[in-house]
Amino acid sequence: MVRTCKFPGCDHKNVPGSPFSFHRFPVSDITMRQLWLVAIGYSAGAKISSTKDFCVCSAHFSEDDYIPNRGNSKKRILNTAAVPVPRCLSYTEITYNVMS
Ligand SMILES: [Zn+2]
Repeated sequence: MVRTCKFPGCDHKNVPGSPFSFHRFPVSDITMRQLWLVAIGYSAGAKISSTKDFCVCSAHFSEDDYIPNRGNSKKRILNTAAVPVPRCLSYTEITYNVMS
């Protein structure tokens, strides 16, 4: 199953060659998970069926949200305090997505 970004209005898919990396929801840190849920338009207490398939793509994080890459690994690791923000989408796009 191809993972898609859960961010409202974003249709980035985790396919080979995608310029985006995909980040799973925080599992162990409840507070962080709630912040992520709110950031993508869910309520903080929303029950999500599987955090495994719940991803947000790298378009919603800034460079500062990543741990500086040591070595030559291509894998980008998010800072534990990183929360998605709607930086690549306009407000109208987000509103449209929520309303539809
Ligand atoms: Zn996205």
